[in-house]
Amino acid sequence: MKIYFSFLILTFLVISINITNAQEDEFSQTTEIQNTQSADDEFTEDEFSDSDEFSSDQDEFSEFSEENVEEIKSKTNWNRFYWAISILFATLLAGIFVRFEATRKIRPVFLLAAVVILGFYRGGPGIISSFQNTFLFFIGSTDKWPAIVLFLGLIPITYFFGKVFCGWTCYLGAIQEFLYIGKFKILQSDKSQKVMRIIRYFIFVILLAQLTFTHSIEWSRIGPFKVIFNLFSPNITGYILLVILLLSSLFIHRPFCKIACPAGLFYGWITKIPGASVLGITDSCAGCKTCSTSCQINAITREGKTSKLDNQECIMCGECLSDCNIKSIQAFRKSKNHKSQIFLKGIKKVKI
Ligand code: SF4
Ligand code: SF4
Repeated sequence: MKIYFSFLILTFLVISINITNAQEDEFSQTTEIQNTQSADDEFTEDEFSDSDEFSSDQDEFSEFSEENVEEIKSKTNWNRFYWAISILFATLLAGIFVRFEATRKIRPVFLLAAVVILGFYRGGPGIISSFQNTFLFFIGSTDKWPAIVLFLGLIPITYFFGKVFCGWTCYLGAIQEFLYIGKFKILQSDKSQKVMRIIRYFIFVILLAQLTFTHSIEWSRIGPFKVIFNLFSPNITGYILLVILLLSSLFIHRPFCKIACPAGLFYGWITKIPGASVLGITDSCAGCKTCSTSCQINAITREGKTSKLDNQECIMCGECLSDCNIKSIQAFRKSKNHKSQIFLKGIKKVKI
């Protein structure tokens, strides 16, 4: 893990410098259409126009003729679409990999690639923006179709493989995971997890209300991840949230995922649909603590002598699958016998 972390820091510095240079160049150019197709432009569009990667066309193209604007917009959208398809493909691959012990081990490579390529190099597509654009689309306020393709495309993948996007290809989750020191056991009790989940519902409702009333994406003005990946925020709130995120990520495993991510919450609901991919147990479960200790995201919590697994929170990292010596924990399709939420000792099953 330390090797990954060192590499991450190095990459962060190198790419941040490159991006800063690229952004300076970008602002000094007025005629080169090709620039709008380069990956570095995602940052230019996103961060310096107070908007998100899927909704900033206006400022970006204001200096071109109307004809060129349309051409550039079309090319940019197709470029974003190819990225969205690549992410969906990588997530699908991860969904297959997590099912096998040997391939499960390469999850850190996926996480690292997500941070370096999607985060530092590309600057998106971001899942939070995709979620917001999809919501705006359904209330008739956006046409950022590559963002919608990404968000909706992840629904069937989640249905068939679980929240594998969260566990393997989301660069927002990945960077938090790399930052986590792992030695501290704070806010890990079942009660703490419940409180964090309540806060996440609260934030989710506020976000939907804001989108409904303002029809605009405010996230990009304050999103700490945008600051991480290009060291720039249009206002002080972004930097404050960044410090909070960095500090909390050191001591809590994926705090943003647990407390604030609307996309993670939404995809968690898919585990409740009949036939969806869920983790469950076979009769051989010994009721030991192994899987609850393996589960850093606290999808498995300990209640007395029994572990409780909530598939809504599971990010399909596969750690518990690998660590259970008797292979009692396995992937199933949600049914009467395999619920979304279960007690792992097999004593009691919760009806969800
Ligand atoms: S919960 Fe959100 S931020 Fe975390 S990994 Fe999932 S989509 Fe990414
Ligand atoms: S239950 Fe926890 S350890 Fe197991 S796959 Fe899900 S997130 Fe990973």
